[in-house]
Amino acid sequence: MTLDRELILIAEDEASFVEALQLGLAREGYETLVASDGVSALELAKQHSPDCILLDVMLPRLSGLDVCRQLRKESKVPIIMVTARAAELDTVLGLELGADDYVTKPFRMAELVARIRAVLRRASGEEEGREAAEEVLRFQGLTVYVDRHQVIVGDQEARLPPKEFELLVLFLRNPGKVLTRDILVDRVWGHDYYGDTKTLDVHIKRLRAKIEPDPNNPSVLTTIRGVGYRLDLARA
Ligand code: CA
Repeated sequence: MTLDRELILIAEDEASFVEALQLGLAREGYETLVASDGVSALELAKQHSPDCILLDVMLPRLSGLDVCRQLRKESKVPIIMVTARAAELDTVLGLELGADDYVTKPFRMAELVARIRAVLRRASGEEEGREAAEEVLRFQGLTVYVDRHQVIVGDQEARLPPKEFELLVLFLRNPGKVLTRDILVDRVWGHDYYGDTKTLDVHIKRLRAKIEPDPNNPSVLTTIRGVGYRLDLARA
């Protein structure tokens, strides 16, 4: 492997698909490495420090979701998740695994290469110490500066404790999508969650008091009975 060629780890178990990817990526000047199951994907990622990982969601031995979670504990390597169906993509996005991008099969080689270039460019930009643009989430009258933990409602600053802030960010990153109670609890409390399920409702109530025009008739955070909550796009 020459030093100036970027190495892409392909974690994929469909042999014909792997072959097509290898050919296509080689034509674009990338080195490739193949893992046909999740466990070897982790091992190869550690041994070879690839510049980018194409990670199939459905992998034998260890799913792509678990591989992504594990990798993120110790590495910022750009990860592009590959999903077989749009429905699978919804799940993946709901879990917020920390992947950098997503593609749904079937995709065109040109599309994949464009995304690889984009994540590699972003990664090298960060390495060079260029200041990454701060993530700013906007939704109707709400503006959230994620890194600064600052929330503006209308033209007033709202003070949100950490868990309420995390909930709000999660909703803003998934506008219009129902987030189940399980996903919310898992993402915001994770393993620290010992309370009963009322804890979530209490936090939602406090959050509504700060961001809803009329907290008693929520129009921003809608309750989806028996399922969870949704940041509502329908509000006029
Ligand atoms: Ca697969």
